[in-house]
Amino acid sequence: MARHTSFRIGGPADALIAPKTVDDLEKLVKSARIEGIPLTILGGGANVVVSDRGIRGIVVETRSLASIEAADAGPASDGGPASEAGQASGAGQGAGRTRLRAGAGVSMSRLCEFALARGLGGLENFYAMPGSLGGSAFMNARCYEVEMADRLEGLTILDRRGDIRPFPLDHAAWTYKTSPLQPGREEEGSIILEARFVLGPADRAALRATMLARRADREAKGHFRLPSAGSMFKNDRGLGRPTGAILDELGLKGRRIGDAMVSPWHANIFVNAGRASSHDILALVDFAREEALTRLGVSIVPEVLFIGEK
Ligand SMILES: Cc1cc2nc3c(=O)[nH]c(=O)nc-3n(C[C@H](O)[C@H](O)[C@H](O)COP(=O)(O)OP(=O)(O)OC[C@H]3O[C@@H](n4cnc5c(N)ncnc54)[C@H](O)[C@@H]3O)c2cc1C
Repeated sequence: MARHTSFRIGGPADALIAPKTVDDLEKLVKSARIEGIPLTILGGGANVVVSDRGIRGIVVETRSLASIEAADAGPASDGGPASEAGQASGAGQGAGRTRLRAGAGVSMSRLCEFALARGLGGLENFYAMPGSLGGSAFMNARCYEVEMADRLEGLTILDRRGDIRPFPLDHAAWTYKTSPLQPGREEEGSIILEARFVLGPADRAALRATMLARRADREAKGHFRLPSAGSMFKNDRGLGRPTGAILDELGLKGRRIGDAMVSPWHANIFVNAGRASSHDILALVDFAREEALTRLGVSIVPEVLFIGEK
């Protein structure tokens, strides 16, 4: 699995399948259920640490579910994600809106490029964030103060009973880095097949400038210098400052366990500095949590998901 994750960590899966169509995915899910084979859904692998022992059962990669379609969505109305997206991008009031439908496996950057090519505003802050649309919706990913739930109109899901159905956005159920599809929530076990956005027109040059600025900012912050999964811990607003500042205060920048390292340039980005194991990463995470708790009395919660055989 190291080849399928941004951290470049993880032992073998028993099998890895990338269904080419929703129909194939549905058949796979049905067969696996009948046979009692566990399935793990993987998008871009940009928010996970896979165990060194790998993953039992089948890993289902969504990368081939990558269609994007645009259609007229009618005139703008007051309120709602569409008009907010338009306003955020300087779209004219009352201008025609476009509905984008995209498969779960589309990369966020490709989706942003598609929107740019059509002059549609609202997604540009997500440009250059690694990962797929499905994984980003599952995580309710957040970039530069905009989260997926601010922009999504709805999803299509394959739910745990095996039914394919629309899943409209109930904004109350989406909070910071939390979606209704996560463990313990009402749609746990559902697979996102498709997501929809209603976007307003925006100036292409301004969109492009924002996208390039977002990418440049990530490069400047060292996001792509070594393999990682972005921020290791969630930012808890209740703590009054970013988790990176807390870890920095603890003097953890550059701290290593094996080849797992707290990056010397950003204390909330943990990196694979060579041949780090999942065990190394977990040990470093535990160490950082313990330090935060015992020295500052604060509890910090990982954002990155640890998956695979324990
Ligand atoms: C350099 C770097 C920078 C990053 N910056 C940010 C940032 O600014 N903001 C931010 O929020 N995140 C950031 N991340 C983390 C990551 O990019 C996001 O969490 C992204 O949304 C993960 O998408 P993915 O497809 O890679 O998910 P994966 O890692 O593949 O999966 C994550 C979870 O989603 C589930 N999942 C994936 N696809 C589906 C689906 N179709 N249906 C149901 N469940 C699914 C998986 O089972 C898993 O539980 C960064 C990561 C890196 C490496």
